Amino acid sequence: MTTTEPALRHRKLVTEIPGPASRELQARRAGVVAAGVSSVLPVYVASAEGGLLTDVDGNTLIDFGSGIAVTNVGHNVPAVVDRVREQVGKFTHTCFMIAPYEGYIEVCEALAELTPGDHEKRSVLFNSGAEAVENAVKIARVATGRQAVVVFDHAYHGRTNLTMALTAKSVPYKHGFGPFAPEVYRVPGSYPFRDGLSGAEAAAVAIDRIEKQIGGDQVAAVVIEPIQGEGGFIEPAPGFLPALSAWCTANGVVFVADEVQTGFCRTGEWFASSHEDVVPDLIATAKGIAGGLPLAAVTGRAELVDAVPAGGLGGTYGGNPVACAAALGSIETMRTQNLAESARRIHDIVVPRLRALAERTGVIGDVRGRGAMLAAEFVKPGTNEPDAALTSRVAKACHAAGVVVLTCGTYGNIVRLLPPLSLSDELLDEGLSVLEHAVLTEVSL
Ligand SMILES: *Cc1c(COP(=O)(O)O)cnc(C)c1O
Repeated sequence: MTTTEPALRHRKLVTEIPGPASRELQARRAGVVAAGVSSVLPVYVASAEGGLLTDVDGNTLIDFGSGIAVTNVGHNVPAVVDRVREQVGKFTHTCFMIAPYEGYIEVCEALAELTPGDHEKRSVLFNSGAEAVENAVKIARVATGRQAVVVFDHAYHGRTNLTMALTAKSVPYKHGFGPFAPEVYRVPGSYPFRDGLSGAEAAAVAIDRIEKQIGGDQVAAVVIEPIQGEGGFIEPAPGFLPALSAWCTANGVVFVADEVQTGFCRTGEWFASSHEDVVPDLIATAKGIAGGLPLAAVTGRAELVDAVPAGGLGGTYGGNPVACAAALGSIETMRTQNLAESARRIHDIVVPRLRALAERTGVIGDVRGRGAMLAAEFVKPGTNEPDAALTSRVAKACHAAGVVVLTCGTYGNIVRLLPPLSLSDELLDEGLSVLEHAVLTEVSL
């Protein structure tokens, strides 16, 4: 049973969470949906608008997750919905590799313009972040004639075979799924809260490891998230990314920025590499690109991307016309509403609130993030010891009160906030109050 009432414009709970209709769907799901696919939230969505989700019981929740940094523009924004409707009415698929269409070119033009650097660029479109990262590695290998790929502690790059190899965390992403792709080497990154190193020091450790254990001339690509996502919203210390990027340039190594989660205004810039003026050789994008439709891209230096001969890159659905229409609507919305600026405003509202909460409770060891990619790292008071149990209780309490927050981190002890960049100050404030209340309540238990 689905509610037919129009979506509300504020948080409202009319049943317990999950309500009866969601519980019924949960029971149906158990008989047919693979157990390996889990859901953060026990409620089933009937509609969504802006920063709100309305479930099948008529409860309306504030969305601080944006479907993992996907609906950066907000749910159901007119520029996306109208363009998608129009495109669906014309054609839904021809396969760009068979009979091409203009939308694909327009998305690649936008990527050339918006990604860091004013060099000549080429793009190729895919369906998912993992596919984009895999293809960045394919391009780097062909362009360099080398094989080794360097990745970092706490990295997350996806769930396909190669990207599982690139990903750091075993359970649940890799456990039992091996063997993994060879020629992948993991080195320490920069995690200021835990390693206490400056960016230059952390980069020196990583570079020494690469040179001694792999050999710089063996490395095709260094693949890195400018701010690590699933691994814990880890912002590297200033100077870390520029030092690695400079080392790559000096050694003929392709510097690949995985901006799948950080891209498209999320961190207060179009791309997070720009915070330190890093210009990646290749950049992988997905999530925020198309307002919820599946689309991903690799964009990079023309001479690298075009090293792959015709037919070497592609896929049946890559750059689907409906997804391209959504991307153009999403990018237009980011431009016209200046959502990079909105992300910075969200940062300036959220960070002081989280810092005050940290001070008051002693269970938040670190508050960090850029733009609207924000995190609180939960620890046992007075230590650095991760408190995953408290983190999970806080998240569940928020869900029960109608606020969608996500957790992340190698140690599962980070509450991360990824609100739509268009979220009103009022909803942001209300969601934060719920989070504060949840932390205070869980701490006093
Ligand atoms: C989500 C994510 C991916 C994988 O994207 P999918 O679309 O889920 O395949 C890769 N890299 C980063 C940094 C991500 O956050």
